Amino acid sequence: MELLKKCAEKLGIILSAHQLDLFEKYFNQLYAWNQKINLTSVTGYEEVQTTHFLDSLTLLMTGKIRPDFRIADIGSGAGLPGIPLKIAMPDISLTLIEATGKKVTFLRSLIEELGLKDTAAITGRAEDLAHDLHYREKYDVVVSRAVASLPALNELCLPFCKIGGTFIAPKKREKLEEELAASTNSLKRLGGRFVKIEYVEVPDFLSRRALIVIDKGSLTPSIYPRRSGMPQKNPL
Ligand code: SAM
Repeated sequence: MELLKKCAEKLGIILSAHQLDLFEKYFNQLYAWNQKINLTSVTGYEEVQTTHFLDSLTLLMTGKIRPDFRIADIGSGAGLPGIPLKIAMPDISLTLIEATGKKVTFLRSLIEELGLKDTAAITGRAEDLAHDLHYREKYDVVVSRAVASLPALNELCLPFCKIGGTFIAPKKREKLEEELAASTNSLKRLGGRFVKIEYVEVPDFLSRRALIVIDKGSLTPSIYPRRSGMPQKNPL
């Protein structure tokens, strides 16, 4: 994990030998399980370190994630960005929400293998789980990578966020302004408030990435999210 160590240092993130060992184990599990179920198309040792692990750690650059926080990762897939954040900040409480049962089986095995405390993987769609009072408006920070366009993501993610909490969406820089412009209505309806875009770059290894930071200013009306599939099919 030398490449990850070096690139993370460039972002001011120092990973201990133990943390690097956990990332190594994560890579090995991802690689092995990917032979059986489709978790990711990115499988090369160096590529996983940058495209998956480092990219996930960039969310720390927002300054919005604190060690005592409850974090939810929506559409976590193979655990990204949630698991790298948990490895870097072991005291956070982490909930991974993922619609595909097989991926959740992987996530539970990974959590066990890495010995991660206070980490749960839940099978289900965000549209349904966001109406469950165990999860609704319970998280300090909600994160979600590569799941949907911003207007749909707002509807899937903001209901999980506490008032005063934050939703962070890592995105490619292309079409960023367009996605933000299309999000005005969804933010207003869901109680979100655009805060900033943080541009992140590690020359040669991570390029043209950006983090959209949205604060939750007021309660999300209980009709949201709408039924399964609607946020993506017919964004607010
Ligand atoms: N976040 C991971 C990453 O960055 O590698 C996975 C991205 S993958 C392209 C999208 C994932 O979101 C899939 O695993 C899919 O099953 C999950 N997903 C899509 N819509 C969802 C929803 N409404 N609720 C929960 N999971 C969802």
